[in-house]
Amino acid sequence: MTDTRTERTAVLAVVGAGPAGLAAALAAASRGVRVLLLDSAPAAGGQFYRQSATGPGGPGGPGPRVPAHQRRTWDRLRTALDAHLAAGRVVHLSERHVWCLERESGGFVVHALLGPEQEESSAVRADAMLLATGGYEKVLPFPGWTLPGVVTAGGAQALTKGGLVLPGRTAVVAGSGPLLLPVAAGLAAAGARVAALVESAGPAGFARRAGTWATTPVKLAEGAAYAGRLLRGRTTVMTRHMVVAAHGGERLEAVTVAASDAGGGPVPGSERRLVCDVLAVGHGLLPHTDLAAGLGCRLDGTGVEVDDEQRTDVPGVWAAGETTGVGGAALSLAEGHIAGRSAAARLTGRIPDPRGWAAAARSRARLRRFFAALEAAYGDPPARWPERVADDTVVCRCEEVTAGAVREAVGTLGAGDLRTVKLLTRAGMGWCQGRMCEPGVAGVAGCALTPARRMPARPVPLGVLAAPPDPTTPR
Ligand SMILES: Cc1cc2nc3c(=O)[nH]c(=O)nc-3n(C[C@H](O)[C@H](O)[C@H](O)COP(=O)(O)OP(=O)(O)OC[C@H]3O[C@@H](n4cnc5c(N)ncnc54)[C@H](O)[C@@H]3O)c2cc1C
Repeated sequence: MTDTRTERTAVLAVVGAGPAGLAAALAAASRGVRVLLLDSAPAAGGQFYRQSATGPGGPGGPGPRVPAHQRRTWDRLRTALDAHLAAGRVVHLSERHVWCLERESGGFVVHALLGPEQEESSAVRADAMLLATGGYEKVLPFPGWTLPGVVTAGGAQALTKGGLVLPGRTAVVAGSGPLLLPVAAGLAAAGARVAALVESAGPAGFARRAGTWATTPVKLAEGAAYAGRLLRGRTTVMTRHMVVAAHGGERLEAVTVAASDAGGGPVPGSERRLVCDVLAVGHGLLPHTDLAAGLGCRLDGTGVEVDDEQRTDVPGVWAAGETTGVGGAALSLAEGHIAGRSAAARLTGRIPDPRGWAAAARSRARLRRFFAALEAAYGDPPARWPERVADDTVVCRCEEVTAGAVREAVGTLGAGDLRTVKLLTRAGMGWCQGRMCEPGVAGVAGCALTPARRMPARPVPLGVLAAPPDPTTPR
């Protein structure tokens, strides 16, 4: 995209102020572009550099403490951001929940809802877009998963990292994926006893890929440090196991775990009951693609497809970080840096020179290989997990649809895809629009999980739709 404007600085809107969005904003702002950095959170940092809230455990408060991630990298990003904010090269529009991106001649309009209530609206104009909206957790249902005390792995981490509350005294961390390790270690650091880490993957997949782990010793050391902390805290680690039920009256009191056989089926007689008052559970992450899909960007698997410069197939739209595929904070930083430099060059009428970001490109290639191997080693949750979901288990919480109703839609009424299941049962029609329940409903229905096109990307008050605000460019 060549900028022919001579009298004003080109404007790049970056949605998402996590590692990818921050790296992109800094790279672009340092190269002559004005950046509007929008995020739904009150402070920059995203999931990885989440900042303490001003709750009981906020700065100076009495709540739990967990170690900050990569303090020095965060300090460097924060200092650079502050300098650009002071110079007016970056405008940080926090608590902006972006619900729609609109193409207009020569640019884009970014529509957002404001503040915690999300009832007011704003719109800003930009010459180009950079999407760095990260990922969200994949949650699979099981009997008892709606009990108070059952939280997602990331939710438990957000509570402890944000310094608000410790969600329980005795925890079980369960599901699958690399996120479980920092979550368990964080809960332990915040004062909980982590009774067990229950991982559905087996160790064989990891042993087969020993060569790949050796190429990224930093990640290996990170994993070993988490494992060391758990062993010191006497956490029992169970592999090839799943939580099959959560039990309790008013709130969680215990969980039942069971082993899976090589075919993903339950091993008879392997059930064990573990006493706990918090269960942190998650099965990895999925990329946030709603805004990109709304603009018509092509997807690659579950993430947004990008080229070597992190450009999507829609002119003027870049994407970086976990919206393009799940791969950790360091990969997000590398992708964001490349995207920001590419966008700045093209917006100021130059052809970008990839030699300028060669180090970031090398790091991107190495980390993409590492995370592809990690994904393969963890694999999918046991293939036959839906068999363990009883008919009366609610699978769509917003619309209170049970597994039995989903099975009836498939078996009796003949639904063959997720959309038909949704139309027949209302599963996925509620407030979250399927963001939480879609993988679970797809599993129970036996349908393929395809990336949904969800527009608007957030629930929007009718008044906002009826009278959208005039776009501005903030000073
Ligand atoms: C819940 C959770 C916990 C994690 N914990 C760890 C961990 O302990 N250790 C680890 O190594 N990795 C962890 N990860 C992974 C790590 O956070 C990511 O690798 C990294 O943060 C990805 O960076 P990103 O910039 O792509 O996205 P993110 O850091 O997710 O940033 C995306 C930003 O976009 C904003 N956003 C999204 N949609 C919109 C919208 N429509 N409007 C406005 N703003 C929007 C979000 O508020 C967020 O600030 C976690 C991820 C998640 C989801």
